[in-house]
Amino acid sequence: GAPKLKTENPATGKPGRTYDGHTREQALAIAGKAREAFPDWRRTSFTERGIIIGTAARILRERKDEFARLMADEMGKPVTEGLAEIEKCAFNCDYFVENAERFLANEPVKLDGGRAYVTFNPLGSLLAVMPWNFPFWQVFRAAAPALMAGNTVLLKHASNVPGCALAIEDVFREAGAPDNVFRTILIAGRDTAELIDSPDIAAVTLTGSVAAGKAVAEAAGRNLKKTVLELGGSDAYLVLEDADIDHAATVAATARMVNGGQSCIAGKRFVVVAPVREAFETGLAAKMSAIRMGDPLDPATKLGPMVSVKARDEIHRQVRESIGKGARLLCGGEVPDRPGAWYPPTVLTDVKPGQPAYDEEVFGPVAAIIEARDVQDAIRIANDSEFGLGAGVLTRDIRRGEEIAARDLEAGIAFVNENVRSDPRMPFGGVKHSGYGRECGVFGIREFVNIKSVHVR
Ligand code: NDP
Repeated sequence: GAPKLKTENPATGKPGRTYDGHTREQALAIAGKAREAFPDWRRTSFTERGIIIGTAARILRERKDEFARLMADEMGKPVTEGLAEIEKCAFNCDYFVENAERFLANEPVKLDGGRAYVTFNPLGSLLAVMPWNFPFWQVFRAAAPALMAGNTVLLKHASNVPGCALAIEDVFREAGAPDNVFRTILIAGRDTAELIDSPDIAAVTLTGSVAAGKAVAEAAGRNLKKTVLELGGSDAYLVLEDADIDHAATVAATARMVNGGQSCIAGKRFVVVAPVREAFETGLAAKMSAIRMGDPLDPATKLGPMVSVKARDEIHRQVRESIGKGARLLCGGEVPDRPGAWYPPTVLTDVKPGQPAYDEEVFGPVAAIIEARDVQDAIRIANDSEFGLGAGVLTRDIRRGEEIAARDLEAGIAFVNENVRSDPRMPFGGVKHSGYGRECGVFGIREFVNIKSVHVR
């Protein structure tokens, strides 16, 4: 039989529900059905597909309390953030319902004779390997454009959020999607590469760790299948000498605490020029320590537990080891004595190369302050990372901030004077080990289509 998937409530440490996983044969059979559903689905019109995806948006809004609760139970997300996440999924569905046809309209090309144009055909069945940190958003971000483009979608969600994975399948079913146009398969990450060999899968999109991205890219590569990878990040925010320090500290705390710090685009490194380092340290430590850990089911809670005790222990290891190698603790850094995966808002300063807080992605509420000599040094430090997802610049000199953001930072997304956020309307993705390809916007929907040139004489 297939392994069972067991959930655990990270706020309490208590076991949750157990789900039956799929065997390899079952998973392959589901992939086969999604492939069989493709030819009919791709022949539906944008209007027909739009009615279904639009209905999915409505169902999300209707059932948002239930889904926010489910996320809280499975991965500890505070319900207030969960409700916002569901709203964002619905907005994303509506956005692609409204714009998919325009994004994928034929584009005329002027040649010497006859009539030529570019047309966009769907590819087939897209395997979406997704993480637990935004259990609904990550899936809808990938699925809504893929479905609107006429692809079918197979979801392989993280093993700790099977309830969310099945609930999402249910949303599309209830929305009237034809059988097998969107299916969930419950298999382990390590069994996924094998599935990618199946001819029933046309392409793969993955959001998750670098290791998972490499495994999936390898499997897809040996099968010559297109991939989009959205991996980790260690987003740097430059705090320049002329920054409004109170505002900079607010932006930094907000950026760092997205989803309890468990976000690829959370701000992780704060690169501060020497003259304002101390003021920024004081400001950020004050804002961070004002954030209280609390029950994710309490609407007032901003910081819930980490996803698991194992993940929390890894964060603590990174903090301890950084301190051991010279970092200075400004607040937090202690594991509370209670059941569950709790970790407090933590600020480290004097962070330098060789410390985990400098070299690695820290996937939790831990801000790392790094001193830079001047602006050029700050840019160098920001780019001194294996990752290149998001980045920010905090300065009163908007022109200089914009120039650094647009030109100098090795990142897929760069914001000035606010924290990096994803938006269905703007391309989202990174460079270096943060992955490749883009989600969202016109660039996102064009990733999983055959860009076909047609010439008629
Ligand atoms: P993983 O990358 O392990 O999980 C993400 C998804 O990939 C899950 O569905 C997982 O399945 C799957 N997966 C894992 N290993 C493989 C594999 N070899 N082949 C195919 N699929 C695989 O993330 P973790 O939960 O372990 O988190 C570890 C780190 O990853 C974090 O600390 C963070 O750095 C990064 N991360 C980044 C995210 C982002 O948003 N960019 C999101 C989550 C994590 P399964 O659960 O069954 O193993």
